[in-house]
Parts: sequence; C-alpha cells; structure tokens
Amino acid sequence: MNRPTVHVVGAGVSGLSAAVSLAAAAEAQIVVHESAAIAGGRRRPLFDEASQTAFDSGADFVLSSWTSALALIEAVGARAQWREAAPDGIAFADLATGERWRLRLGRGRFPWRLLDPRNRPPGVALSDFWPGARLARAPAAARLVDYAPRFGTAAERVWRPFALAALNADLERASARLAGAALAASRWGGATLLKPSRGLARGLVEPALKTLARCGAATRFERKLVGLAFADGRVAALDFVHDRVDLAPGDAVILATPPQEATALAPGLAAPQDFAAAVHVHFAAPAARDAPPILGVANGAIHWLLSGEDSMTAVVRDAGALIERPRDQLAAAAWRDVAALTGQRDAVPAWRVVKRKRAAFAATPEQDALRPGGDTRWSNLFLAGAYVQTGLPDCLEGSARSGAMAAERVRAWLASR
Ligand SMILES: Cc1cc2nc3c(=O)[nH]c(=O)nc-3n(C[C@H](O)[C@H](O)[C@H](O)COP(=O)(O)OP(=O)(O)OC[C@H]3O[C@@H](n4cnc5c(N)ncnc54)[C@H](O)[C@@H]3O)c2cc1C
Repeated sequence: MNRPTVHVVGAGVSGLSAAVSLAAAAEAQIVVHESAAIAGGRRRPLFDEASQTAFDSGADFVLSSWTSALALIEAVGARAQWREAAPDGIAFADLATGERWRLRLGRGRFPWRLLDPRNRPPGVALSDFWPGARLARAPAAARLVDYAPRFGTAAERVWRPFALAALNADLERASARLAGAALAASRWGGATLLKPSRGLARGLVEPALKTLARCGAATRFERKLVGLAFADGRVAALDFVHDRVDLAPGDAVILATPPQEATALAPGLAAPQDFAAAVHVHFAAPAARDAPPILGVANGAIHWLLSGEDSMTAVVRDAGALIERPRDQLAAAAWRDVAALTGQRDAVPAWRVVKRKRAAFAATPEQDALRPGGDTRWSNLFLAGAYVQTGLPDCLEGSARSGAMAAERVRAWLASR
C-alpha cells in the first residue's frame, strides 16, 4: 500500500521540527515546501550584496531547559555546535549611571545565587524577584505590571529587560501568564543560555535538512503556496505559484507559515496580528578580548550588545518607533551607545542594519487569546508555528514545540484512518 504524503508548508524552525519528527518515524512520505530559496524562516542567514556572502545575525539563543528545541537539535545531531553563551552570568551596564553588574541566577530549579547581593543588579532586593513566583498562577487577562513594579530600580533592571527579551512587549502590555510560562520554561532562571558557535544555520537548519534528506523526505524551495482547495471538509489540493498538487484522501498538510500567510490561506482562522519589530546593527569592529559575549543595556538606545570575534551587534527590541528611520541614523545612534559601552573612540565602522517589522508577536493577553490550536476545521489540515497556542511566547522553543505537536496530531490522524 502507498504511504500517505504529509506536505509541510514552511521551512522555518516549526516546519523543520514537524518534518524531522515525522520523517524519522517513516510513517509517511514527507514533502517540505518553502517559498524562499533557503530554509530557516525568520532566522535564515541574510545575504550581503556588498561582500556577496551570506551571514548569520548571531543573535540566536536557546535555554538549556528548553526540551523541545534541544530534542530537535539532538535529533539532527547538532548538539555539539551549541556552547554556553554566558558562563559567568549575564552582564549588564547602565548607560545613565555607568554601573555594571552581572545577573547570576544559579543552576537548577531554584535561583539560589540571588541570595547573594553580588549576583543581583545594584539597588535590587531579593524581594524584588518575588513577583516571579506568583506569575505561574496569573489569570489569562493579567499583565506583568499587575505583579511586577512599573517604576524604580527593579522595574528598569529586572522586569523591563525581561519583558522585552522574553515577551517582545513592554512591561505595561506583556501578559503575566506568558511571563510565568517563560520563567517556568527557564526552570525559574536556573537554565543556562546556549548559542550556536557558527550560527543557527549550522547549529540547526542545515543539519535538519540533511536529516530530512537521509530519511527520504523531499524539500522544495521557491515553492510559494498561494491557495488551498477545500472539498468535503478536507484540503483536496495545494495551489503553488506554478502548479497544483492534488491530495489523496489519506494525505495531510501542516501549515507552518507565519500567521499572516496562514490566515490568508485558511478562511476564518484567527491568529495574533500585533508584532514587535527588531533592529539589529552589525558593526565590523572586533570586540575587546574581555568583552562579555552578551551585554544587557539599561537606559540606552540599544537593549543588548552581542560581541563576536570580529564584529559587534547592537540589538533594539520592540523597535516599532525606529523602524522607519534611515539606516545611517540608526547605525550612528547605536554606535554612540556601543562606543560609550566599550570605550571605542573610532569613527563609526562599517555597519549593516537589519530591520524586521514582524520579528515576533507581542506576548500580550489580547494576542495570546487570538492564538489558534494546532487543529483546524479541515480534517487533514494542521498548524505549526511559534504563534500557535504552545503556552509560550514567540521563541525557538515554541516553534520546535509547535512542530512536534503538529507531527503528533498528524500521527494520531493517520492512525485513526
Ligand atoms: C531578529 C530575531 C531574533 C530572534 N532571536 C531569538 C532568540 O535568540 N531565541 C529565540 O528563542 N527566538 C528568537 N527569535 C524568535 C524565533 O526566531 C521565532 O520564534 C522562530 O524562528 C519562528 O519560527 P517559525 O517556523 O514559527 O516561523 P518562521 O520562521 O516565520 O517560518 C515560516 C516559514 O514559512 C515560509 N512561508 C511563508 N509563507 C509561505 C508560503 N505561502 N508558502 C511556502 N512557504 C511559506 C517562510 O518563508 C518561512 O521560511 C528571534 C526572531 C527574530 C526575528
């Protein structure tokens, strides 16, 4: 008997997670369709026209406690690519006061290192972290600011950076429940930060494609899905720009596109619509030898400074107000902060500004309420994507989890037939 075919549309982390999970079990023939020329979705390497080379933005972190992301990395044999990014705790600097500190939470399930004031930001008491313990029981409509302080040192040095980094929304708008979920998924801060030593492409995407090829799955690039044909409560055909694929009754589809494409393709589907922008400014300037690989910035135009061997990257999260500004102005403003943080006096070095209007959905109670489950009203159509209801904000763990959950749904559907 012919094996059914599962079509996975979208080769971001969610689609790759779904495809790897199904292909490994050989229950179905897997075909991945991706509209772009390469895989990786929002985190695919960018092409630099000037040097005619692809480059990874170098801003991909996962936590050692993220089970789905690490299971995917393990499944594609890429665990050795990942290194601890901040073994001495996460370094911070306050540009207004010049103060520097490291946040060290401690390994394991309890952030015991916070008991020592040297592991906390200056002016922040142990009790300032207590809201974290109450977030797990927060109701769906609550905001982080209902639990954590809005003003003062703890707000600026703990809760606001956390909201921007983990929830892609400011403290006032972020969902308390998703904040609690993000904390719980980090083992209450006890996890370590991992980073791929040679970028996400080598640390996950390329190994995933190799794994798929080894399992006999097909991956097709530059294949944009433009329509789904429905009949008898199921998807009967996939319309791509240049051709149509008819589906046999036992075939299934996992739609692993971003939400705006998914809602355009599947009538009546609700999904988050409010996305936070991000701006990354890459400078071709080597960081000092003792520079922390990741530096959180308080009271600056930038929120993070990432230091590599021959470059530095300034990151602005929730950057909607900046996204239309000319690139040279963004580079100059970011360099002012970088120079102040690093003591560099040189003129602005060669730079590259990457703007992302829709970097991640804003983890607010309103957007969380719009997230669909993985099933649809069509029997053979399933959803994957960081925006699907995973219980987590938009992150690589959520993407990997949504893909694994979609694969599980397809498996159950295939078994039920
Ligand atoms: C700048 C930036 C930095 C980030 N840093 C981190 C980080 O450090 N840690 C972390 O956990 N998360 C991070 N994130 C979030 C993380 O990258 C996302 O959660 C994740 O990549 C989302 O994956 P996805 O597969 O759900 O969606 P996407 O990556 O958006 O993938 C969807 C795929 O579908 C394809 N597609 C779209 N429409 C069609 C169509 N019609 N037909 C065929 N294919 C289609 C797209 O081309 C794309 O490849 C970051 C995001 C950004 C933008």
